[in-house]
Amino acid sequence: MTFSNLRLIKPLVLALDKKGYTTPTPIQEQSIPHILAGKDIFGCAQTGTGKTAAFALPILQLLSERKTNQNPRTIKALILAPTRELASQISENFAAYGYNLGISHCTIFGGVSQGPQVNNLRRGVDVLIATPGRLLDLMNQGFVKLNNIEFFVLDEADRMLDMGFINDIKKIIPKLPAKRQTLFFSATAAPDIMKLANTILKDPVSVAVTPVSSTATLVTQTVYYVKKENKRLLLKHVLSNGKIEHALVFTRTKRGADKVAKDLNAMGVSAEAIHGNKSQGARERALKGFKNRTIRILVATDIASRGIDVDKLSHVINYEIPEQAETYVHRIGRTGRAGESGVAMSFCTHEEMPYLKDINKLIKKNIEVVSTHPFN
Ligand code: AMP
Repeated sequence: MTFSNLRLIKPLVLALDKKGYTTPTPIQEQSIPHILAGKDIFGCAQTGTGKTAAFALPILQLLSERKTNQNPRTIKALILAPTRELASQISENFAAYGYNLGISHCTIFGGVSQGPQVNNLRRGVDVLIATPGRLLDLMNQGFVKLNNIEFFVLDEADRMLDMGFINDIKKIIPKLPAKRQTLFFSATAAPDIMKLANTILKDPVSVAVTPVSSTATLVTQTVYYVKKENKRLLLKHVLSNGKIEHALVFTRTKRGADKVAKDLNAMGVSAEAIHGNKSQGARERALKGFKNRTIRILVATDIASRGIDVDKLSHVINYEIPEQAETYVHRIGRTGRAGESGVAMSFCTHEEMPYLKDINKLIKKNIEVVSTHPFN
């Protein structure tokens, strides 16, 4: 299967070529034809499956085919995302795939001043990517009109509900035209998710890819038993093996993330921590540095890591084992994405053994133990 087989237009196929993507991922293969045919979609897929391109590509194509010469442009597609990081990443996808289609997009999220966002909106945009709070805020101030929306995407709906955005969403939906195409994505199909989906989708096609409990087979998983006080040295040891050029390291707490980043820097390894206590600017700088490889190690807490989208992330290191086994699956889903292979290493103390047991149970196998290390 190729992208041309999916009837994507040439400019999109060329943009995908430029990114080095030749084969559609399962969610793309299943969704794109239905979206191009105008259907609503209920997509059960988590980050890492290629779901962003699954909606961005057909929306760009349909917008480019319907292109009218409005001046100024009106918003025709609204993408709602739960976090600023995810909104920024969706925006990067629209930029990468749509760069020669002449379709403009703009991203709005809270935590930064609204001035530049309002200026962008004033110029007129085709695609608006937004987090719910800032969108409502700018709608109430009269800067955003949604009466010409043809496409509405609700991304990571499960996270939206977890983060308490349901009331914001309920205020936004009535402002959208009833005649529109709606694409709904969620990592789970829990009852509250289905209830929300049923209120906003019309006769949707359901598509689903790998459930959360099955870890990607392409990820090589290992565990290192180690005493808490030796984790720092073990990290140094594994990083001194030249194979790890770039890695995402997970801790359970914000303080832990800061401590690990500080230790790494003291050892001469460039590292930055990202978590909820950091300013938006600091988080964006860290993410940018990690993406352009000026920072070798990014240390993150679970919340901060949601939606981090880094191409071909080769290594994930669980400096601390998560208390929830599902979190482990999400963490290691950051590597080996979209057909690439990856390595996930976990450092486990005696106290963390019960968590490891839960993980082995969830993934239905025992993670291979590495005993040949100096801190065993
Ligand atoms: P997503 O699930 O949208 O966050 O995408 C996960 C990662 O896969 C991102 O880094 C995408 O750029 C990448 N990706 C998306 N589609 C493909 C594809 N067809 N082939 C290879 N990588 C892809």
